[in-house]
Amino acid sequence: MLQENYEVVKENIKKACQRVGRREDEVTLIAVSKTKPLSDIEEVMETGCVDFGENKVQELCDKEEKIKRPVKWHLIGHLQTNKVKYIVDKVALIHSVDSVKLAECISKEAVKKQVSVPVLVQVNIADEDTKFGLSKAETEEVLRKIASLPGIKVKGLMTIAPFVDDPEENRIHFKNMYQLFVDMKEKRIDNVDMETLSMGMTGDYQVAVEEGATMVRVGTGIFGARNYNK
Ligand SMILES: *Cc1c(COP(=O)(O)O)cnc(C)c1O
Repeated sequence: MLQENYEVVKENIKKACQRVGRREDEVTLIAVSKTKPLSDIEEVMETGCVDFGENKVQELCDKEEKIKRPVKWHLIGHLQTNKVKYIVDKVALIHSVDSVKLAECISKEAVKKQVSVPVLVQVNIADEDTKFGLSKAETEEVLRKIASLPGIKVKGLMTIAPFVDDPEENRIHFKNMYQLFVDMKEKRIDNVDMETLSMGMTGDYQVAVEEGATMVRVGTGIFGARNYNK
């Protein structure tokens, strides 16, 4: 069942790519397994999927310890500085760097553990009060500050689009994100590889792919609805 769901999402990504003349292999599907049991992750791993997303540090660490096969763990949720030390050597990519202060903390822990941590800078593209992330206007300045830190490698940008009923409503935000991504790439900031644009979730990933996402984060569409009151 979960494997079929995963394959359906993959197929939808392929079709979205075809509609706009992109190659399917330009887009990485991250299976967002937050709140879901290990058995669900193992089932989806049978498809060959190795990219899994979690939004809580504790949950990511627990799952990382228990799953023995190689997994690329993506931290996609808000990260507090006091939790950084637990994950710097366990994550493949932190999607949610939203301040210089957090980046400095990641840098410090990465140097201590002698690792290099790939990160994305989170942008609040629709300027929602309820969401974390930088404004479009401050993104370049923050990128420049983070880029010079040791032990941390900026790989691109991430956004969480508004919750909407019709995914077409988010097209403008994805377009704006892609434009910002291209603009930042053209700045050629030292030590920044502007190669990843993480945007699109279950409700709107097909639109995000059409507008240039290189990573989509899909939870419900693969694992089914989440139950937070268990
Ligand atoms: C939970 C979550 C997702 C996945 O959401 P779905 O709508 O279930 O696909 C993606 N990105 C972030 C940051 C999340 O917290």
